[in-house]
Amino acid sequence: MSSARTDLEARVLEHLDEDALVEDLANLVRTPSVAGSEAEVEVQEMCAEVLRSQGAVVDRWDIDLAELQEDPWYPGSEADRDRAVGVVGVTSDAAVPGLVLQGHLDVVPPGDPETWAGADPFSAEVRDGALHGRGSCDMKAGAAANLAVVRTLRAAGIELERPLGVHCVIGEEDGGLGAFATLRRGHRGEAAVITEPTSGRIVTATAGALTFRIEVGGRSAHGSMRREGVSAFEAFLPIYEVLRNLERERNVDPDPLFGSELPYALSVGLVSAGDWASNVPDKLTAEGRFGVRLDEDPRHARLALEDAVAAASATDPWLRENRPVVTWPGGQFASGRIDADHPLVDEVIASVKDTGGDAPILGAEVYGSDLRLYAGIGGIPTLHYGPGDIRVAHGPHEHVLLDELTQVTKALVVLALRRCGVRF
Ligand SMILES: [Zn+2]
Repeated sequence: MSSARTDLEARVLEHLDEDALVEDLANLVRTPSVAGSEAEVEVQEMCAEVLRSQGAVVDRWDIDLAELQEDPWYPGSEADRDRAVGVVGVTSDAAVPGLVLQGHLDVVPPGDPETWAGADPFSAEVRDGALHGRGSCDMKAGAAANLAVVRTLRAAGIELERPLGVHCVIGEEDGGLGAFATLRRGHRGEAAVITEPTSGRIVTATAGALTFRIEVGGRSAHGSMRREGVSAFEAFLPIYEVLRNLERERNVDPDPLFGSELPYALSVGLVSAGDWASNVPDKLTAEGRFGVRLDEDPRHARLALEDAVAAASATDPWLRENRPVVTWPGGQFASGRIDADHPLVDEVIASVKDTGGDAPILGAEVYGSDLRLYAGIGGIPTLHYGPGDIRVAHGPHEHVLLDELTQVTKALVVLALRRCGVRF
């Protein structure tokens, strides 16, 4: 553990401009950067501008989407995009950054406006000590905190021995193409903190999630003579049952880090069948998400689901002759983790405690994130620590507490000073 806060750290923290932090966050939230929208480009330009204004060396590039999709490691995507922009700011480009702070700027759609009780989901209204709106928690607060670290160091006149990097990415919510593009462009660091909302915890591991599609055929007939046909809906039922069994098997004895009995959920989110109410449906398509276990190769997970569907088909006369087809469109998140005894873990704990925060506990998240790309193809030890409560993310009451945002930003400033070192 490192020593308590030094005089230098205390002096630097006096330069944290909380008004600028909240203003940055409000500007980011007011830009409705739903995955695949034009605002996804706009919000990236905004981040590039803030970084430039704070003296960072900024790499802002147009992501070549077609080239990226050809890459055998492409993580998948679901939104349609004509354009995408990558943004990385470093305090100096003379060496590999000692620390990278990463945040995604894309958000999920706001959903039914009614559920926001008449409020504009992109208003960024501040009320009761919290800033409200889509993306406020997941994760523009974290992204604003990352920008504020650069701002604070600059205001304090600090020159770091090793650079600090800030990665602003898009496309996290639908697979991670922004993180992938950033790593493929060669941006690296010795360690990374993704400032996803963790409610004061340090998330050292994330489960993965794969989007699957199962297509089941039937034989159409008039509904009044349904026995002349074969319902694709009914043919799907035994498949659904084996999927439930598969989920149960894969969640026996989960890692206690999760604090959940179902860290690897298999959920069918979209089902469509038939095209006419009084016809026997001749086709069913089911799409869902399938959890990937810690340290499991996603190829192994895919095989497990394909085998389960094949097993269900082998015992059913119709399905044996009319094999369901399993494909893997959309987001493909592997699981990922940082070594529990990597020094970054203790350094984050010490930085939080030394800035007045409660010692964070360690945990794991059940959802996939950019962590697995940074830890995987990036080879960068990476964890999550950031402001906000994931339980309000993606919902109609999304918000972030401003006190928490400030606290996390202070911890990140101290972490950056300690990891990157100060040049005198
Ligand atoms: Zn997120």
